[in-house]
Amino acid sequence: MRILVLSDLHANATALETALTAANGRWDRVVCLGDVVGYGPDPNEVTSKIRELDAQTIRGNHDKAATGLMPTDDFNPVAKAAVDWTRSQLSPENLKWLAELPQGPLAVNGIVLVHGALQDEDEYVFTPAQALEGLLDSAAGVTFFGHTHHQGGFSYSNTSNNLEMLNLRPRPSESVSALRTTGGLRYLLNPGSIGQPRDGDARAGFAIADLEHEIVEFWRVPYEIASVQSRMRAARLPEALVQRLSLGR
Ligand code: ZN
Repeated sequence: MRILVLSDLHANATALETALTAANGRWDRVVCLGDVVGYGPDPNEVTSKIRELDAQTIRGNHDKAATGLMPTDDFNPVAKAAVDWTRSQLSPENLKWLAELPQGPLAVNGIVLVHGALQDEDEYVFTPAQALEGLLDSAAGVTFFGHTHHQGGFSYSNTSNNLEMLNLRPRPSESVSALRTTGGLRYLLNPGSIGQPRDGDARAGFAIADLEHEIVEFWRVPYEIASVQSRMRAARLPEALVQRLSLGR
């Protein structure tokens, strides 16, 4: 079974369509680590597409905020403005679907899905110390997480007690880099963000996991950022959110 792993789509329909075209024919099912909406100009298009793909999806903090399940007091003014706009745009059906998304961790097809961290769906995992708790707790050898919008991950060996940070991003001139997973090691992997990458590479990120063949591919695909930016400006979304798409930060 080849699993297409999507995360942090953030209502960016152009990035999602481009990623799906690149991944066409390479997967058997889709999973999504949350933040379907928020920031971007296409909340209904992206939510409807994820529903149409029948992607097993867990909720992210922006999905919770947009549907009123989480207060936005902690959000900065720019993120809050996007949350309010998103809520005003979503159709009743899409709003309902987003509000009913399950919380991670969720085990599917031999992997575990979380939005932030295993112990807390809203927590960011950037450092090995933050990753360790989850690596020790997870019920599966491979756990996928999102939330940071940084493609990459960690591996941990129980026997040698060794935790490694993995550099998994394809080079700028390449679109795929492959990780060979080793039985006995535990992995915490971030497929990268579809709709708002923040790791310095503006290309949309995703992963394709084939656990039978012990391989996880990390993809980056360029998409037409300018068309998304013009829709964001037309919707009067904050300019800071428009600009960061070109920077990948
Ligand atoms: Zn996000």
